[in-house]
Amino acid sequence: MNKEQFLEELNKIGIDLTGNQLISLNAYCEYLKEYNSHTNLTAITEDDQIFLKHFYDSLTMVKTIDLTKNYSLIDIGTGAGFPGMVLKIVFPNLEVTLLDSNNKKITFLKELAKKLNINDIKFYQGRAEDFVVNNREKFDIVTARAVSNLPVLSELCLPLVKLNGYFIALKGSNKDEITDAEFAIKTLGGTIENIDNFNLPYDGGERNIIKIKKAKNTPQEYPRKYEKIIKKPLKTNQK
Ligand code: SAH
Repeated sequence: MNKEQFLEELNKIGIDLTGNQLISLNAYCEYLKEYNSHTNLTAITEDDQIFLKHFYDSLTMVKTIDLTKNYSLIDIGTGAGFPGMVLKIVFPNLEVTLLDSNNKKITFLKELAKKLNINDIKFYQGRAEDFVVNNREKFDIVTARAVSNLPVLSELCLPLVKLNGYFIALKGSNKDEITDAEFAIKTLGGTIENIDNFNLPYDGGERNIIKIKKAKNTPQEYPRKYEKIIKKPLKTNQK
């Protein structure tokens, strides 16, 4: 996807980039490639692919939720900033926190934010399960792309969502995973409101955006200890 096609596809999902936003995304792309040459951040290294599989893919979230509101949003396991950093560039009204356990990735993101003159963004270097302890039900939107399977991810993410807020999981093609997560989502106070299934343009592959509403408070006993979450994902009544 070249840059003209990128702008065209964004128009189709209701995004009209400003000149400055495009300049920021170009600078992001250049800095990502430069940094990636000495520190491993992403396997995707060609401009066309970065614009399609990182930038466009991150922005497809607008298909499921109005991001022009002043929501607080946290991206769990953001890596090199996907989707959280891209969302912040295009929707500067969002109050964004980027979380990752990997120090190199957070260092890259802090440098990038400086380069792009983004001051009102927060970073947390640490594990999601530790962050939850002091941040229960604090965010309007919690999102994650390519971090873990949905039952595990739900236990890390849903406790962070405010009542009536959303956990929005950006996923590839695995249908079984969604069925598998139904028990976990319900137990954690969530309800699946919508699943948007589509293909990325230019053969970018199948995607599912799973929009989960926080319908009830998450019981205090969740999240459990990380080892337990991994060993016994919430799939039946077991604890
Ligand atoms: N969301 C990005 C990165 C995906 S790779 C993208 O889609 O491109 C997964 C990232 O999640 C890695 O950077 C890893 O460090 C982070 N991660 C995995 N488990 C985590 C946890 N429990 N807490 C915090 N970060 C985690």
